[in-house]
Amino acid sequence: MATSLAPAAAGSGMVDAHGRAIRYLRISVTDRCDLRCRYCMSEQMTFLPRSALLALEEIAIIAERFIARGVTKIRLSGGEPLVRRDVGDLVERLGRHVGDGLDELTMTTNGTRLAQHAERLVAAGMTRINVSLDSLDPNRFRFITRHGDVAQVIAGIRAARAAGLAVKLNTVALAGLNEAEIPAILAWCIDEGVDLSLIETMPLGAIDEDRADRFVPLTRVFEDLSTRFPLVRDAHRSGGPARYWRVAGTATRLGLISPLTANFCDGCNRVRLTTDGKLYACLGHDDQVDLKAALREGGIAGLDGAIDLSLAIKPLRHDFRIGTGEAPAVARHMSVTGG
Ligand code: SAM
Ligand code: SF4
Repeated sequence: MATSLAPAAAGSGMVDAHGRAIRYLRISVTDRCDLRCRYCMSEQMTFLPRSALLALEEIAIIAERFIARGVTKIRLSGGEPLVRRDVGDLVERLGRHVGDGLDELTMTTNGTRLAQHAERLVAAGMTRINVSLDSLDPNRFRFITRHGDVAQVIAGIRAARAAGLAVKLNTVALAGLNEAEIPAILAWCIDEGVDLSLIETMPLGAIDEDRADRFVPLTRVFEDLSTRFPLVRDAHRSGGPARYWRVAGTATRLGLISPLTANFCDGCNRVRLTTDGKLYACLGHDDQVDLKAALREGGIAGLDGAIDLSLAIKPLRHDFRIGTGEAPAVARHMSVTGG
């Protein structure tokens, strides 16, 4: 198979049909998870058969091809990336490109296994990480995740900080579950020296409840937070959909990811690779191209052709709506495409 770092052919850059430069690849390294967050998956979740998954070597070849074509940021996600046995090897392999094609290699994790992995991630070149945490209250955390232990996640966050990683908490706002706790979560982030991104729940995949019952518009949360904290608009852009505020007098930044109440698709710079090799150009649509088949059948040339096709069909925007009884916008769960 030709090397994945061969220079990209002329004209094979990373610009979609709407003129958006694609610089960010998210990779779901596994769809499996050790938690079952209620808004993410159902309790009896069906996972992909192991035979369908990309081998670690194939993930690396595909990622390196994206780097050669101009992608400068890669995030490993899932499912829970740290439950994949060989994920450390992948981090080490991709970490070699940091500063040499790649500006940043990062990860989104639920934090349950972060304490064991933090130092290896740093040694491989990671400097920042997102940790999902929807409640600091042990009982509420266990309820939301169906069996998680919040102490383990907090220990993971502290180990990551001690190893030198900047941490951003991801918190999905959930009516009747953690909405009233969000000011306390922000106060905790200030104490711990970490950032916080709040996320609106998105209609991805069937779950065991109606999402409309849990949906909280972040406009409402922000109004509440701005009466309690001195929030100053921050021009920072992470290359993602969040809008940022700084909590004045602290090191903590607050980000809002509001796909439902503030569409962010105009500046979209990302595509997503699933653990079975499908490339989704938009989180909110079903169109995908099969990079696994393209690579296995056509090598690097086949891969390039499939990536070009994906850029050509990347939709202008998602179509998320949340209404009572409405079917999810797409049947895939966030854990398949990598959040
Ligand atoms: N397991 C890891 C974790 O939880 O951080 C990584 C994968 S998880 C799918 C990535 C992010 O997606 C998490 O912050 C999670 O809260 C968020 N998420 C999952 N399902 C979601 C949904 N339906 N709407 C909004 N965010 C969701
Ligand atoms: Fe697992 Fe992350 Fe989904 Fe929670 S949000 S069930 S931790 S993949």
